[in-house]
Parts: sequence; C-alpha cells; structure tokens
Amino acid sequence: MTEPVTTLKGVGPKQAARLEKLGIHTLTDLLFHLPLRYQDRTRVLPVAGLRPGDEAVVEGEIALAEVQSRGRRMLILRLADGTGALNLRFFHFSAAQQHNLVRGVRLRCFGEVRGGRQGLEMVHPEYRVIQDDSAPVEDCLTPVYPTTEGLHQISLRRLTDEALARLEHLPDWLPPGVLDAAGLPDLESALRTVHRPPPDVSVAALLAGRHPAQRRLAFEELVAHHLSLYRLRTRTTARPAPVIRVDGNLLGRLRRSLPFALTGAQDRVIRELERDMARPSPMLRLVQGDVGSGKTLVAVAACLHAVEAGHQAAVMAPTEILAEQHHHNFRALLGPLDIPVAWFSGRQGVRARREALAALADGTARVAVGTHALFQDEVSFEDLALVIVDEQHRFGVHQRMALREKGARDGRLPHQLIMTATPIPRTLAMTAYADLDYSVIDELPPGRTPVKTVAVSDARRVEVVERIHHAIGQGRQAYWVCTLIEESEALQAQAAEDTHALLREALTGVRVGLVHGRMKPREKQAVMAAFKAGELQLLVATTVIEVGVDVPNASLMIIENAERLGLAQLHQLRGRVGRGTAESACVLLYHPPLSDTAQRRLEALRATTDGFEIARIDLELRGPGEVLGTRQTGMMQFRIAEIVRDQDLLDTVKAAATRLMRDHPDHVEPLIRRWLSGAEEYGRVG
Ligand code: ADP
Ligand code: MG
Repeated sequence: MTEPVTTLKGVGPKQAARLEKLGIHTLTDLLFHLPLRYQDRTRVLPVAGLRPGDEAVVEGEIALAEVQSRGRRMLILRLADGTGALNLRFFHFSAAQQHNLVRGVRLRCFGEVRGGRQGLEMVHPEYRVIQDDSAPVEDCLTPVYPTTEGLHQISLRRLTDEALARLEHLPDWLPPGVLDAAGLPDLESALRTVHRPPPDVSVAALLAGRHPAQRRLAFEELVAHHLSLYRLRTRTTARPAPVIRVDGNLLGRLRRSLPFALTGAQDRVIRELERDMARPSPMLRLVQGDVGSGKTLVAVAACLHAVEAGHQAAVMAPTEILAEQHHHNFRALLGPLDIPVAWFSGRQGVRARREALAALADGTARVAVGTHALFQDEVSFEDLALVIVDEQHRFGVHQRMALREKGARDGRLPHQLIMTATPIPRTLAMTAYADLDYSVIDELPPGRTPVKTVAVSDARRVEVVERIHHAIGQGRQAYWVCTLIEESEALQAQAAEDTHALLREALTGVRVGLVHGRMKPREKQAVMAAFKAGELQLLVATTVIEVGVDVPNASLMIIENAERLGLAQLHQLRGRVGRGTAESACVLLYHPPLSDTAQRRLEALRATTDGFEIARIDLELRGPGEVLGTRQTGMMQFRIAEIVRDQDLLDTVKAAATRLMRDHPDHVEPLIRRWLSGAEEYGRVG
C-alpha cells in the first residue's frame, strides 16, 4: 500500500498535486484520509419537518418553475411534496435544464436547507429526475472528506473506493490484545467501515463518532500522538543536564523569613522539583496551580537551589505586567538573601539593559526575570541551569526552545519548569503535555475566604457603584475591569479611560486609579505600587491585570461585559480578589440578553471557584484548542480523535503506547508517520 497515488486510475500530475496539498502521496495516505463527517442520504424527508441547517434528501413535484431576471438571473423551482414546499435556486443553468425542469416533473434533491426570504430553500442542490416513487435511496451514509480547491468529493470517493479495493496487508502496529480488550475491531475492517459505512451500521453511533470502527481509529491516532510527544521528550532527556543537589540552606533561610509556612502542596511540589533537578538529565515539569495557590514561592525555591549549586536561573513571563510583578516579588524575596536579580523588558532603557546584560554574562546576577526580551540573541548567561516559564501556553514552542538553548553548553541542557495557572483537565493534560511530568498545587493557603460571585445586568450599574462605595468605606479596595471584544489595545485603553472618568465623577472622595496597556511601564508601575500601598482605593484596569497582580486588601472586583469573556479568563480575573482574609466578592456585569453559552459560563462561575471544575466546563463549551490557547491549536488537530468525546480511551492509550515502546520499538516510527506525517512540526518540542 506504499504505491504512489499516481498508480490510481485518472490521477495525473494535476490531481496528484492537489492530493499532495492534503498530505496524500501514497495509497496508505489516502486510506488514512478519513471522512470529516457523513451525509445521511438514506431517507427521503418530508419538507414540513426540515429546519435551516439540515442536510436532507427531499422528493416532490415541481409546482412552479420560473427564470427570474430581476437582479441576478436565476432559475427558481418550487418543489412540493404534499407536506410543504421549498424553493430550489440555480444561478447557473443550461437551456436544457430550463427546458426539462418544468411544472409536474418529479425531482429528488439533496442539499443544505436554508431559511430564505420566501421560506425554506436549497441553493444548487444535487438533483435527479424521478420517474416513479420507488427509485432507491442510498443505502449507506455518504462520507464527506476534507478537501482542497479543485478536488471534488466525488473524486475523493472514487479514489478511496479504488484504494479500498486494493487494500491488503496493511500492517497493524498496535500491540496485539489491546484492541480485543477494548472491544475494538481490527484496522482493515475499521477503515472499510469508516470510509464506506455498510447499510446495517448504526447511523446514530456513526454520526456521533462513537462507532467502534471510529473509536478504533481514534485510539490508534491518539497512541501515535502520544508516541510522538514522548519521542520528543526522550530526545530531550537523553541530553545531560547539570546535577543540582544542595543542602537547601538558601531555601531554609527564605522559609524562616516568611510570615507563614508553606502549604503541604507547595512542599510536595518543591520536593518533586528537587528530585528532578538532582538527576543528570533535564527536568521537564509542568506545575499547575489555581490562581492564588502560591506558585511564585515554588518557582523561587527552584531558583534558590540552582543558585546554591552555583548556577543561574531565568524566569520568563508572557506580559510586561506579570513579568514586573515577578521581578518585584523575586527582588523582595531574594534581596534579603543577597541574591542579585537582573531585569529584562522590551521597554527598558538602553543603559539599564546594557547593565543587565553584563551582569548576566559575567555572572554577577544569579537570577534573570523578564518577558520574551530574555530570549533575544544578545542575552547570554554565564551558567544557566534552570529555565522557568510562567503561563507557558501563551508562548510559542519556539520561544521556549530559544531560552532553553541559552543554557545549552557542550550538549548540556538546563532544567525546565513550566508553570500555568490555567487548570488543564487531566484528560487534556495527558494528551497535550504527554512530554512533561506533571505536578499540581492542589491546595490554597489557609485563611482564604471563597469569593462570592454574582451576575448583574448592567442596567443595575448604580447599585454596583454603591457597592464599591460601601467596600471602600470599610477600608477595602476594589478593581473595575473594562473589557472589550476588540483586540485593539487602543480601544481598550479608551474604554478604560472613559470608565475611569465616569467613576471618578460618581464616586466623589474616592481615590481612583487607572492602568492599561498603552501606558508607559513607569506610569503603570507607579499606579500599581500606589494601589498596592493602599493610596488608591479603586483601580480601573483593562485585562492587563489578568495574571499575577497580587493585592490582598482588594476584596471586590467588578468585571464589565463579562458575557464576552471566556471562562478561563473570567476565572483568572476573579483570582485577583479573595487573596486576603476579608470576605471577597466578584460582580459580573453583563449586557442582556445573554446567549446560552454566556449564561452557562456565568452560571459556572457563580457555582464554583474551583479552577479545575471551571476548566472542565470550559473544555465542554469551547473545545481543547481554546482551553490551551490558540497558539497551540495546531497540535490538537486530530483526524478522527476528539479529546472530549474520546477521553474514556486515554488511559488505555497511554498503556498501549508504553507497551509499544517497550515490546515493539520498531513499530513506533511507522505508526507516528502514518498519522502525523508532516504535522509533527506542530507538536510541542520538549
Ligand atoms: P499564584 O499561584 O496565583 O501565582 P502567588 O504565588 O502569587 O499565587 O501567591 C498568592 C499570594 O499568596 C501571595 O500573596 C503569596 O505571598 C501568598 N502565599 C503563598 N504561599 C502562601 C502560604 N503557604 N501561606 C500563606 N500565604 C501564601
Ligand atoms: Mg502567579
């Protein structure tokens, strides 16, 4: 089955080029080019039951035929089947069609139903003139393939027919026994069923993607995906890394200086990091912790170990504000231990930058904190042994790689710690981060009171303003977050400025500050510092404060246009309050009417503050691409698998992948190639 597609009838250079665009070179590729979905042409449906968006076969008599010449010329047929009627529109038609398609002629059509101005209609349906009622319908579901310009479904169906006819000896790379245990069919019959569902197939199962044949292929695809990530991982871990084994004196001193003890979860995760870094191969660990779980201290602990062992560490954050916050925290925590921290930002002055560069290169600075400015070419370290990336899914893979390479010396790689506050459901993490070890800080510091959340229509703004007054009267502080659907920083800033002006007017005597992405870093810093110090009582902000900002005395948060934001983002924003011991509240201001999903989102936030529960709901509402961030959607595009739908397979997938690597290492490469040819570049690189 490795013959090129050009061995198929009718595939010349042109057709081959089109197929190539779809990644199809061989007959095997063609067989693994799976249907996206199916059309049900097995039943004739009554017109009365149709709804816009349906794809359906209908049959009836032409009740009216006319060529409309007003506006765009078209042939319109009114088709009546006794239950109702719908219009068929043809913009391109021949004289013969016009001659044949007249009143009284019976047609059977297939097409997508749309709601037109004169009721339901189909535009350019496929049709057939029918002589008598007993003309057979299709007895199988019709596959619809992903395709490209100039390549018709009919051609793809014909080509797959041929490939299926020649199907023999397709090696099954999965370990024997796994499939039987999972009750799944063999590869060949699965392929035949998925491409050409037999008449007796369960239509409902197939349309839902739950047919055993589909699950068989989804399973194999997930195994291939898992193996490819795992291979990237082993390529990284095969390289040497500095062994970091220390007494922990620095961490001990830090602990004694803190006004609180670390939580059990923080301690546990720190121990996991210690174990990783004591090995002679690079740590590759993802640490997840809900907002407020205390990830910063875990990161600081890892840095302290690297420094104590005589190396340097780098901490990278995705936004200026978050990086600044880290810089502030790291300086506050490391300063008393006499550990110099260098700061890198895209917006810092030439001189500050030159000094930071020199301090890192000659080793005066032991820790670097910054934005993506850290992985520019001119930044070089004396001895980088640990790279910490916060909120990693906002970075592209290549950026993470670039920083890692700065620690590469004599083939040696630095340890890598990735931290994310976006809780990723276990199922998704198992698939998307199969190359990373995984720790969870699953405990919040004691004494926090859960945030009470309410959703309020923006018609009741006045009450909300009153509420701010009240909170501030009690010595508390509040955030007002302005959000816009537009990505434009300028528009966001404008909205925040307007709101700032309005609130200042409404709240006389209240010290109101403003922070947005268009302000100079120094201005932003000054405002944040004033808010932190309690000099400002209300902070009007754009979503720049989404991550990292930490002011325990702030206990009220208003989020404007909450209906426009995703769940994860709302959860992050809300995490800015509830950091102290005061009772905290979050008001989700929305503009009615709410769509169904918006309602579900706001309801989910009201119901729970558990980030993992919220992520699970988010995954259901939006799918994995969104949860993980758009930058990495490439890696979550499967041909047939769907993480949410197929999550019950994941445990078996992992076990099967492990068995393959152990017992059949020679199957790994061909299996990956079968499913990920070309696409693997999207995969995350350890
Ligand atoms: P996040 O996980 O959201 O990054 P941070 O590291 O910013 O959380 O910590 C949130 C707040 O909790 C900070 O004010 C920090 O000082 C505090 N904190 C962290 N760990 C503890 C702890 N074990 N006990 C009490 N407070 C803690
Ligand atoms: Mg943080």
